[in-house]
Amino acid sequence: MLPISDVIPLLQSPKKIFITTHHKPDGDAIGSMLALCHYLNKKGHKTTAVSPGDLPDFLEWMPGVEKMLNYEAQPKESLEVLKNADIIIGVDFNDFNRTKHLEQPLGAATQPKILIDHHLFPKDVWTYGICIPDKSSTCEMVYDFINLCGDHALIDLDMAACLYTGLMTDTGSFKFPITTAAVHFMAANLKQLGLDHTTIHEAVYDSWSEGRMKFLGYVLIERMEVIRKYNSAVIALSRKDMNLFNVQNGDTEGLVNYPLSIAGIKFSTLITERSDEVKMSFRSKGTFDVSNFARLYFDGGGHFNASGGRTKTSFAETIVYFKKILSDIHPK
Ligand code: 5GP
Ligand code: MN
Repeated sequence: MLPISDVIPLLQSPKKIFITTHHKPDGDAIGSMLALCHYLNKKGHKTTAVSPGDLPDFLEWMPGVEKMLNYEAQPKESLEVLKNADIIIGVDFNDFNRTKHLEQPLGAATQPKILIDHHLFPKDVWTYGICIPDKSSTCEMVYDFINLCGDHALIDLDMAACLYTGLMTDTGSFKFPITTAAVHFMAANLKQLGLDHTTIHEAVYDSWSEGRMKFLGYVLIERMEVIRKYNSAVIALSRKDMNLFNVQNGDTEGLVNYPLSIAGIKFSTLITERSDEVKMSFRSKGTFDVSNFARLYFDGGGHFNASGGRTKTSFAETIVYFKKILSDIHPK
């Protein structure tokens, strides 16, 4: 992978740019895609952001969402954009398999591919790029890239809102250890531009439906199992549970974090039954490396304190298997 600075000459003339991110995109994924679109459009390029699938309702307000394509809903249009693009940019993922149905088209594409990401172990499929696991968010890295291009002055309120969203969501509202001084300087800079952080916080975190709030109550009372012996907690949600509460896209977001607010709980797992697989989400506090755990046992990955994976094993068997591993590894 050639350094990201080598991309700058490439962007001296107007380009058609296809920008994408991982499946089930979060605030950092959509924030970094849209911030890049706004920035590159200002530089005279023609960009299209393509999400591999649906995005959660709490990100629908983001500036630029209305022009974004959804590959699952608009496959033909998305592939047409991909075919005609001069450059492909991937943000907030580094392995094409994280884009689900876009994996094959991305692999087959022959245009230069640029990566901006903060996950471990980038695949050797990118022409140019930067991948720094110590960075809080891809949004922080897009901000760094804009500065590297000497374009700080081009950051407007739309870009600031997109960048701040990823910064806020990936740092757990500036709580996680990854929240460096640079993160706060960036937030301060965006504030100086006039960013309205309260409105963004409310749009992302305080926009729940009544049903989602009641579902949270149900999950914590009926489905959270605290396993003191292993400093762990696990929440397992079947399709039946989710149908019962008519769970919408994004309604399970953040559930995995709740058990970590219990004193002494260092490792939290959310097991979700999906139509085609069982999805695993892992979070830890302190020294238990959940990225390694996800990679070893659930074909996944992520970060030291936040990771995910998946399995084709049945929901019931997955719960048994997970508890067996827990007793073997004994998180501290
Ligand atoms: P979540 O639990 O929110 O789905 O994922 C937490 C973190 O782990 C995110 O940074 C996400 O990118 C990463 N992650 C989730 N699922 C996978 C996966 O299947 N493979 C890899 N490599 N990373 C994942
Ligand atoms: Mn991220």
